[in-house]
Amino acid sequence: MIRVGVNGYGTIGRRVADAVRKQEDMELVGVTKTKPDYKSAVALEKGIGLYAVDMKGLEAFRAAGVSVRGTLNDMLQRVDVVVDASPEDVGATNKKMYEQAGVRAVFQGGEEHSLTGVSFVAQCNFDEAVGKTMVRCVSCNTTGLCRTIHAVDTGVGVSRARAVLARRAADPDEVGKGPIDAVVLDPPTLPSHHGPDVQTVLHGLNIATMAFKVPTTHMHLHSLILSLKRPATKDDVVRALEAAPRTMLVDSRMGFKSTANLMDLARELGRTRNDIYEAVVWRDSVTVVDGEAYMFLAVHQEAIVVPENVDAVRAVAGGYDKKRSMGMTDASLGVRKGLGQP
Ligand code: NAD
Repeated sequence: MIRVGVNGYGTIGRRVADAVRKQEDMELVGVTKTKPDYKSAVALEKGIGLYAVDMKGLEAFRAAGVSVRGTLNDMLQRVDVVVDASPEDVGATNKKMYEQAGVRAVFQGGEEHSLTGVSFVAQCNFDEAVGKTMVRCVSCNTTGLCRTIHAVDTGVGVSRARAVLARRAADPDEVGKGPIDAVVLDPPTLPSHHGPDVQTVLHGLNIATMAFKVPTTHMHLHSLILSLKRPATKDDVVRALEAAPRTMLVDSRMGFKSTANLMDLARELGRTRNDIYEAVVWRDSVTVVDGEAYMFLAVHQEAIVVPENVDAVRAVAGGYDKKRSMGMTDASLGVRKGLGQP
């Protein structure tokens, strides 16, 4: 059993913790919280080991009469791998603690590539992370772009990628963030950070991205244009996407007209927290014009990196190959290819 701890129990940490609990080869030793609240109360109800981030937090838990098993330092003594899901840039400050504890670590996309030197998307570069002590799972949009571009590159060949991203403004519980009524250039100058981030996984890819924020909380939507290396039809591109893991194809003629329909599908499937782990491509959006493939891609920001985190834990723990790890992860989470194709 790989003993896993999750440091940071927010949007990503809570989901990764639950995913770890579903793995037959992993034990969730515990999670950290900065302070007691309803999330720590639910974690305790689930029987999850709760640790305070630091001594100040420990005092706050004790004062509130909440039972915790110690601090982050205590948790680190009991795990083989820690998944750092603390806020952007905080992970970097935690690295030293993990090194001192002799613990392997998986960081998130809010950290810089240089923190670990290995950025990870399981189906693209699992082997790069094998034997490393620390890796970084890339952000949600980068994960979606890497999976989709890698799929088309594997099946048809991609010489150049261009993407325009409509980004969700905030996660559903981030009430302090906007915009409520604006479209915000994010950033006004090109490229957005996503293109260079994709290159940390798909080395040498010719890619440029631009992005803007829209007032929605549930998903990102990419308009993706891929220059193909050889003459190919729409069906060739669709087949390449169908052959790739963690990529789901939907069709507007089945009622999928928006990201809202995808969230509704997740509810209908009874997915935990309405999570969509797959990169979702509209099959009927795939169009080839003048050697370029066009498509719409949707990314559920809260969930798409969850399977990658589970695989990254196995990659740094050692003893697994890509196919076995991804197979175990996907079976445990119910990852599917589309409707009628679980
Ligand atoms: P979040 O704010 O929802 O959760 C972070 C949690 O860490 C919070 O519970 C916070 O209280 C806790 N925390 C604060 N300081 C801490 C510390 N010093 N040590 C440990 N925990 C601490 O953030 P998130 O959205 O889950 O993001 C976490 C990481 O995942 C970031 O790097 C982010 O860029 C990345 N990421 C986020 C998304 C997304 O859409 N939310 C998607 C992919 C990747």
